[in-house]
Amino acid sequence: MYKLTVFGHPIDHSLSPVIQQAFASQFDIELDYSKTDAPLELFVESLNAFLHEGGMGANVTVPLKEEAFKLCAELSKEARLAQSVNTLLWQGERLQGFNTDGLGLVQDIRHNQNQTIEGKSILIIGAGGATKGIIAPLLNQSPQSITIANRTLSKAESLCKHFDNVKLHAIDLDKLASLTEPFDLIINATSASLGGEELPIAKTAFKGCFAYDLMYSPDRETAFTKQALAHGAKVACDGLGMLVEQGALGFEIWFGQKPQTKQVLDKFQP
Ligand code: NDP
Repeated sequence: MYKLTVFGHPIDHSLSPVIQQAFASQFDIELDYSKTDAPLELFVESLNAFLHEGGMGANVTVPLKEEAFKLCAELSKEARLAQSVNTLLWQGERLQGFNTDGLGLVQDIRHNQNQTIEGKSILIIGAGGATKGIIAPLLNQSPQSITIANRTLSKAESLCKHFDNVKLHAIDLDKLASLTEPFDLIINATSASLGGEELPIAKTAFKGCFAYDLMYSPDRETAFTKQALAHGAKVACDGLGMLVEQGALGFEIWFGQKPQTKQVLDKFQP
């Protein structure tokens, strides 16, 4: 029996155990995948206890990804660029860290949503941990440009500085209300949908775009996807596909086998 967990705070809402058990059953792997509630100050203690009880690795979610990054002896390229870790592997008494969030998003956009990123103008709203994780994998797909809009402009500016790419631009969230041109792809990476809030974006920005909310919801609709469709977006989806795809990449890191994601995603259709 392999032992894995997802660390976060809060963690009750996490779908990772259901997703990983579904992947494990595709290979007849016996998996004990739990949820571990760990506030930041107890994370190191909780992680050490889990690993010494036979844990082979873990997923890490809000607010622990940056702390997990600091604890790893080895890091994947994506984790190093994002400076955060969502997947841990305990290998020969060394902690290896990976960040599969951005690759999961790209996989979902390209293969589940059948949308292209190459040559597209992208607007990302939000400049928190999730945005940091998705920028490099999106840049690797050769978009035309990526504009990062944030309520706290300095955070968007420091992300542009960190990734140092001419395709990246930072703007204040307030500027979105007066946009006069549409974007091809608009990604909501704020936590505003959690409170059911609409974002202050001009209708024009959505015209014909593909809108993607990183947040997910059981009915597969969010305040942002509703706003986007009402304002002329061609397609809008929530972030469940990203969650499943980042999980599949994690499963492959732990078990060396690539699970099928479609049948798992189908289980979550409302
Ligand atoms: P952070 O807390 O790191 O960042 C939150 C961001 O949202 C900041 O840019 C913040 O702006 C902005 N924000 C918060 N409230 C508002 C508001 N009312 N209006 C405008 N901007 C607001 O969160 P994360 O980056 O970790 O997560 C962002 C979202 O992505 C969450 O909904 C999370 O669930 C989702 N997510 C989904 C994943 C998936 O697999 N589908 C994976 C990872 C994240 P400011 O800087 O000004 O405070």
